Amino acid sequence: MTTDQIRAYLEYYRDLGFESVYKLQTAPAANSFEDVPALPGIVAADPVLPKLEPELDTLEKIRLDIGDCKRCGLCERRNKIVFGDGNGASPLVFVGEGPGADEDQQGIPFVGRAGQLLTQMIDNTAAKEGLPIRRADVYICNVVKCRPPENRTPLPEEMEICGQFLYRQLMTIKPKAICALGATAMKALLNTKEGITKSRGNWHKWRDIPVMITYHPSYLLRQYNQQAKREAWEDLKTLLHFVYD
Ligand code: URA
Repeated sequence: MTTDQIRAYLEYYRDLGFESVYKLQTAPAANSFEDVPALPGIVAADPVLPKLEPELDTLEKIRLDIGDCKRCGLCERRNKIVFGDGNGASPLVFVGEGPGADEDQQGIPFVGRAGQLLTQMIDNTAAKEGLPIRRADVYICNVVKCRPPENRTPLPEEMEICGQFLYRQLMTIKPKAICALGATAMKALLNTKEGITKSRGNWHKWRDIPVMITYHPSYLLRQYNQQAKREAWEDLKTLLHFVYD
């Protein structure tokens, strides 16, 4: 593990409120904790890296840990934190980019125009394919929980800070599959340099969980995107059959 990774772990646990971590007795390794500069507010002496997610995590606990979040600049203009919506025990989780204006007002992900399209896509595809599920049966959340100003793409540091909570949501739900909606969700979950057009429609993995990449519904709303729409419907069909057959 590199110094940067160790530092990231420590920062993550400090943000969660941990004040100290402990190290198991193991042979000293290169890049050990001695190399890590002290972080204010956390005792890094002789620590061991705990697992990334706290034990016995729950969605309620994650939401409580987020609290009235001020960890990044997105807090300044948000109305509501948009945590997630749907069935917290679902075998399928959709991950979008970040709340838009409607979501910011209501505190619920994917309720604006893109959200209505996503709802239709899930409900109609499932109905056509004879699968007994609707939007309320899946879980939906975003990489960042607060609306970026003017719906801009979240910055890497915003994704990193908020991504910790997304990771905990996914580890808590442990779905059979994840659907990454668009390039930002793809970037947050997968270490790939491929573009969305190449990656979509294919299975990838996030920590052993299969991930289907597809287009973001906002992209599909653009008028010239008939081909992309057809492809997104195909992706969704593949995904729903994989999860619910
Ligand atoms: N776009 C997203 O990525 N997420 C939402 O919740 C709404 C629009």
